[in-house]
Amino acid sequence: MTQQRGLLVVIAGPSGVGKGTVHTRVREALPESTLSISATTRSPRPGEVEGVHYRFVDREGFDQLVGGNELYEWAEYAGHSYGTPRRPAREAVARGQVVVLDIELQGALQIKEQDPDALLVFLVPPSFEELERRLRGRGTEDDAAVARRLERAREELAEGDRFDVQVVNDDLDRCVEEVLAAIDHARTSPPHHPWDR
Ligand code: 5GP
Repeated sequence: MTQQRGLLVVIAGPSGVGKGTVHTRVREALPESTLSISATTRSPRPGEVEGVHYRFVDREGFDQLVGGNELYEWAEYAGHSYGTPRRPAREAVARGQVVVLDIELQGALQIKEQDPDALLVFLVPPSFEELERRLRGRGTEDDAAVARRLERAREELAEGDRFDVQVVNDDLDRCVEEVLAAIDHARTSPPHHPWDR
């Protein structure tokens, strides 16, 4: 078997597109993959565990991470800050692992700027109405928060073509297959900067 190289993979898309499920399925299919655990100033939702879903920090803690240059990227989203810790992601890629990032659009573009070999996958909902239905049905946010997320979703959908691949999440199996094919292709293609590796 040829040695495949490590890869940063951003699987992004508007809130409610079903990112969580796609992330889980992709990770199950790639045992050597790892999920980057973001830092956030948002409060935990019921069932969310510190260090598993997020590192929950206060504003001061987040500012320290930014000031110490410890974040690969960071962005504001619906009134909170979110960021990807740099070192764990770098080290896992160096070990040849696939590191999967669940981050929003601005952060994804920052990652691509720093690592042109990163793969940006954008999940597209079957329709905006379906997205709204899923987001309200989830029941984890109040009306104002849902409205902020829908507004952000509209902006993000308009920018999806800045990603390497766009995949419509109408049929989950097909969607996951397409994401896996894109990852496989990226890992076996020559890197942009072979002298860096
Ligand atoms: P949620 O509050 O629903 O967990 O996440 C809100 C948004 O923030 C989602 O689009 C999620 O992908 C994004 N997000 C989570 N972690 C990060 C991160 O480390 N950086 C960036 N830029 N976005 C993140």
